[in-house]
Amino acid sequence: MQTHDIRQRFLDHFQRNGHRVVPSASLILDDPNLLFVNAGMVPFKPFFLGEAPPPSPTATSVQKCVRTLDIDEVGKTTRHNTFFQMAGNFSFGDYFKDGAIQLAWELVTKPASEGGYGLDESVLWTTVYEDDDEAYDLWHNKIGVPKSRIIRLGKGPNFWSMGVPGPCGPCSEILIDRGPRYGPEFIDQGDGEEPDGDRYMEFWNLVFMQNLRGEGTGKTDFPILGDLPAKSIDTGMGIERVAMLLQGVPNVYETDLIRPVIAKAEELSGRRYGADQIDDVRFRVIADHARSGVMLVGDGVTPGNEARGYVLRRLLRRIVRSIRLLGVQEPVLGEFTQVVADAMAPSYPELKTDFDRIDAVMRAEEDAFLATLSSGSRIFDTAAQETRSGGSTQLPGDKAFQLHDTFGFPIDLTLEMAAEQGLTVDEEGFRTLMAEQRNRAKADAAARKTGHGDLTVYRSVLEQHGPTEFLGYTDLQSQARVV
Ligand code: ATP
Ligand code: MG
Ligand code: MG
Ligand code: MG
Repeated sequence: MQTHDIRQRFLDHFQRNGHRVVPSASLILDDPNLLFVNAGMVPFKPFFLGEAPPPSPTATSVQKCVRTLDIDEVGKTTRHNTFFQMAGNFSFGDYFKDGAIQLAWELVTKPASEGGYGLDESVLWTTVYEDDDEAYDLWHNKIGVPKSRIIRLGKGPNFWSMGVPGPCGPCSEILIDRGPRYGPEFIDQGDGEEPDGDRYMEFWNLVFMQNLRGEGTGKTDFPILGDLPAKSIDTGMGIERVAMLLQGVPNVYETDLIRPVIAKAEELSGRRYGADQIDDVRFRVIADHARSGVMLVGDGVTPGNEARGYVLRRLLRRIVRSIRLLGVQEPVLGEFTQVVADAMAPSYPELKTDFDRIDAVMRAEEDAFLATLSSGSRIFDTAAQETRSGGSTQLPGDKAFQLHDTFGFPIDLTLEMAAEQGLTVDEEGFRTLMAEQRNRAKADAAARKTGHGDLTVYRSVLEQHGPTEFLGYTDLQSQARVV
């Protein structure tokens, strides 16, 4: 089953069950706490927080998501993308646990010929929060999942919360046992341990918002203030993970919308995916990051040195370096942009209509990086050599800073290059230098601002009264220079 079909079936299923279909929001929302939308519920936050009335009691969407936290997992686990599509169904005080569990199970197990995903029930597992007897009872008695495949998990993995005070509540996941090829068998010791993530792979998470949380520290240490007046549902199912299952491929990078980028990288490099484990990680990183890059540029992000732009820059520069490690020296981002746009356009037609702009941004960033990559790599090699011959395994922070500042090497690129040579990096030293630079820049900007602002004021004074009566101007100029 193709990804576009999986996506459509999800929306159709919930629409048939009375949900309003809501299009994906942009990856960029006006939320100071969030660089990118990282879950399907994000655009619905005001309704869950009671800040605005929901336009309908229930909704469904397939939301574009970017999770930079997962960047280091990409290509190494079988299931983590930086960009992925989270399908979700939402109830704003309408149905609760019973409805959410039944609707999810129905879609997952209904035969493909009847609009479902047709997964084999005998390999499906579920998890519930340790105290959530209600969910346990629904899975076991109503749905018929045997007790041996329902796991009670602790607060860390299976309790969700947002804001203080804000809604919180237990979660329940649907996992699939992909067999011994992906990890050891899980034997429940009753200690709340999570089963292995690649073997017992979670693909759907159901959140039951039922309580109000109070002040506290961290993800788990907070009091429950009471019950919410209206209980709500937020679920998230990873489209790529379901695609991997239904397409019988071992990881998300080999699903129909991502594998074509690997094929392009094979073509450009003349190397074959599947021939070498280290190369394979590079192929998967390229495919994943190319797609994330295109989707981010599509939503208006441009590469830069701060915040969102910096994340995009890291992704794109990592592609460029990975393809060079596969033996390709020429620019490639234009080629990948085309492949990603072709694959994704049926769900995201703006990738076609906006193609020229996206393509230009991708190519410009590659050109900028290629201009400094070789000299930066030489500096890195010399520094690595010196580190080793000095009897150390830690690259100095000032080298990482120089690579960042002069050659545009994002820190995680330096970290990755160091790790490949068995070295670490003095990250603290690097961050100190970065902070110093930032402070210098701030001071400069402040000086310019003061100078400029005051100069304008004085200039108008100057215009009115002529230069002879004016004394503050030169003083101010010299002051600005000193700062
Ligand atoms: P995992 O434990 O595997 O990292 P998660 O618990 O972080 O997943 P949730 O935050 O519960 O994931 O997100 C809901 C669903 O979104 C997951 O069940 C999964 O199907 C999908 N998902 C989450 N992160 C990713 C990712 N990096 N790439 C692809 N799909 C993802
Ligand atoms: Mg995760
Ligand atoms: Mg999880
Ligand atoms: Mg989860």
